[in-house]
Amino acid sequence: MQHYGPFVENAERILLSSEQKFRHYILCLDITDFRSFNHFYGFEAGSNFLLEIQEYLENLSQILLVRRFYSDCFLCLASSPAGLGDKELLAECRKYFSAFLTSRQEAYPACTLKIACGVCTVEKKSPRSSISSSLADAIDGANAARKESKKRGSHSPVLFDQDMSVRLSAQYAQEHANALALHENRFCFYLQPKVSLTTGKIVGAEALARQKSPDGKIIPPDIFLPLMEANGSVVELDRMICAQVCAFLSQRLKNHLPAVPTSVNLSRIHIQNPSSADRFHGIAEHYGIPPRLLEFELTETILLQEFSGAKQLIDRLRALGHPVSIDDFGSGYAGMNIWQELTFDILKLDKNFLSQDPERSLRNEILIPHLIQIGRRLHTRILCEGVEDLSQCLYLKKLGCFLAQGYYFSPPVPPDIFYTYYENHSKLIPCGAYPKD
Ligand code: C2E
Ligand code: CA
Ligand code: CA
Repeated sequence: MQHYGPFVENAERILLSSEQKFRHYILCLDITDFRSFNHFYGFEAGSNFLLEIQEYLENLSQILLVRRFYSDCFLCLASSPAGLGDKELLAECRKYFSAFLTSRQEAYPACTLKIACGVCTVEKKSPRSSISSSLADAIDGANAARKESKKRGSHSPVLFDQDMSVRLSAQYAQEHANALALHENRFCFYLQPKVSLTTGKIVGAEALARQKSPDGKIIPPDIFLPLMEANGSVVELDRMICAQVCAFLSQRLKNHLPAVPTSVNLSRIHIQNPSSADRFHGIAEHYGIPPRLLEFELTETILLQEFSGAKQLIDRLRALGHPVSIDDFGSGYAGMNIWQELTFDILKLDKNFLSQDPERSLRNEILIPHLIQIGRRLHTRILCEGVEDLSQCLYLKKLGCFLAQGYYFSPPVPPDIFYTYYENHSKLIPCGAYPKD
């Protein structure tokens, strides 16, 4: 609440002296894609535009208080007659903004001006002393509804409701669990084999993060990762997993046990830090791991968003001796510049290359041999993910793809189970005819 400054104190004062016949609510709004506004019209025009909005809001009779609290985000306290229903309330909010935006659109034709807005009623709790908690809840609610409005892209105001409240509580609980798990070192990694389709041998592994709940349950990344990516704590997670992998490999090397090259996944946030590659390399060095045993995977979507940063990170990791894979290739829309401008070691084809859809599979049969050809000429290996049966192995071999990963060989498993499997299958995993091919 601190950063909302005098808004909270003033709002409390207004609410305390207000009459029962009004419904009070918080509006939280921001301008969609304000960056592109600044880009087209310059910073000064941007600042003036924000002042225009502020002035407009201040002059609306329903709005009692306005504060710009962050970049292009505004908070307002507003009131309407107590009998006004939710639908009418939203219609009223929509009216404020469409009138303003229509009047300004002509002055700024290069941008499609839109406002994302969240609305949350300040619940009247008794006794009166609890006004400050009602207000805090309403601000949080309006802010969450603003994000929802942005996500929906419709740019109609969104009212904070019970569903959103349940979702938000679950999100806060998971965020809290994630922070605690980091603090208590309750993350671990599973390993999934990478297999050569020519020899049937395991030639590497991918480390995949898992969270252990206090009661010992294993939680998969889709539960904890999106939130950790959103709040940046994935940076710490990636370092922790890398350190655990290195510690594990180091133990095996010390005991003269086999250790296969193992890849760890890197979140896009590492790209923004120019010293990321050296930090990860430092972890390998600390545990005495030869760089060729520690590989890194970066997803195709990272490349789309921050190409030059990604290129720097990849180049530096490779210069330090670590192989780099481009992950999930084919799940997004990476273009030819992947091949033109980047040097990497393995291209991991997303599992949709094994799609059963007839149209897709026809296209894949044309595409895969060409990708393999390009890869071969540029000294890049191609691995296909998500292989679930023998027929897919045969299909890939027919097309010239000789590295695979997927449930057919093994799901991700705890590291000791992985190495038991490795030792038992060190000669052959059935993936077609051997050894002629
Ligand atoms: P990914 O890197 O593409 O990892 C492969 C995912 O596909 C894994 O899910 C794996 O269990 C699943 N998979 C493997 N074989 C098959 C198959 O044959 N069929 C199907 N349907 N799925 C298969 P998981 O372990 O749940 O990981 C999900 C994603 O979470 C990973 O996708 C990766 O992007 C991310 N992730 C996992 N660990 C880390 C980590 O330590 N750091 C970061 N930044 N991301 C991680
Ligand atoms: Ca991966
Ligand atoms: Ca992948």
